[in-house]
Amino acid sequence: MSDSHSSQSFETVAIHAGNTADPLTGAVVPPIYQVSTYKQDGVGGLRGGYEYSRSANPTRTALEENLAALEGGRRGLAFASGLAAEDCLLRTLLGPGDHVVIPNDAYGGTFRLFDKVVSRWGVEWSVADTSDPASVRAAITPRTKAVWVETPSNPLLGITDIEATAQIAREAGARLVVDNTFASPYLQQPLALGADVVVHSLTKYMGGHSDVVGGALVVNDTDLGEELAYHQNAMGAVAGPFDSWLVLRGVKTLAVRMDRHSENATRIADMLTRHPRVTNVLYPGLDSHPGHEIAAKQMKAFGGMVSFQVEGGEEAAVAVCDRARLFTLGESLGGVESLIEHPGRMTHASTAGSALEVPSDLVRLSVGIESADDLLADLQQALG
Ligand SMILES: *Cc1c(COP(=O)(O)O)cnc(C)c1O
Repeated sequence: MSDSHSSQSFETVAIHAGNTADPLTGAVVPPIYQVSTYKQDGVGGLRGGYEYSRSANPTRTALEENLAALEGGRRGLAFASGLAAEDCLLRTLLGPGDHVVIPNDAYGGTFRLFDKVVSRWGVEWSVADTSDPASVRAAITPRTKAVWVETPSNPLLGITDIEATAQIAREAGARLVVDNTFASPYLQQPLALGADVVVHSLTKYMGGHSDVVGGALVVNDTDLGEELAYHQNAMGAVAGPFDSWLVLRGVKTLAVRMDRHSENATRIADMLTRHPRVTNVLYPGLDSHPGHEIAAKQMKAFGGMVSFQVEGGEEAAVAVCDRARLFTLGESLGGVESLIEHPGRMTHASTAGSALEVPSDLVRLSVGIESADDLLADLQQALG
């Protein structure tokens, strides 16, 4: 956490970091600086370093300071989307001939970025089961520059031991990147566990209200932070002022939302494990989950994402999604409203035929913060 907030609790930091009262008016919420350029007091006489809003904008700065504090990092950077953040990171860290270890379960768009975009520039990748340290070790080559981890993973809710994987990456001279989108910094702080870079889709729990698309990178190493900021400006996929403001507002309630998401998801996972039409429930909070102990060690609670497999294969899984009423059928996750989707045909269609292909009988839930009783009733009727 930045020094001024290092002794405060997460809930306090979420509300106050980056949120200093406006110097001109005293407005307690940072204004939306909807502006592209700044008057200079004589050539090169910048006020507070602001010159042009691709390089820096005060609303984005407020969010970036807040994000750095929440993840316990020294530098936060906000982007137009999670994938824009990932793209900036990959093009900063990697060049032709470099190699990355990627997980066998990851957000479909992350996989597509490696498989279809970055690979065209000569970056090589191989797939590992990151929940198994031996698999990560075996995938590392002398050219490995980064190990990419998503925990919990999307959509299979796999758990990777961040501390153990950081150790493996460090020994190989590679950087550990953790996509912390599913957990959020309230539930899990990868930098404190040895990760070098935290990636976020701010679109999900951080924004929290399904009303903004954004992404972030947070690092502890100030030199890497400078390099990333250089590339952020050189490539230009920055978060706009209004989007930054929406995320800054969303983050203030992150702690209370994540507590409720986790409580509701726990009740739903319990119900699903007892449902006769459900063959498998994937939720790290369940004792039966293979990553349960590691999740309990590195997470404060188990989050709001639950996946499950149903009897009757793909058609049955699609039918459950179609019958849900309170759970809205849609992509994305992490908002206050509950969502349901079929990863094989929706979010993860780009993984078809690859090592990351998802089971066709899988349904994914983003459990919102509505009444758990209402959510349970809707799932019962959707399962028939
Ligand atoms: C959504 C998501 C992304 C991509 O973020 P966008 O904001 O959609 O570009 C990356 N990782 C995970 C785990 C996600 O869920």
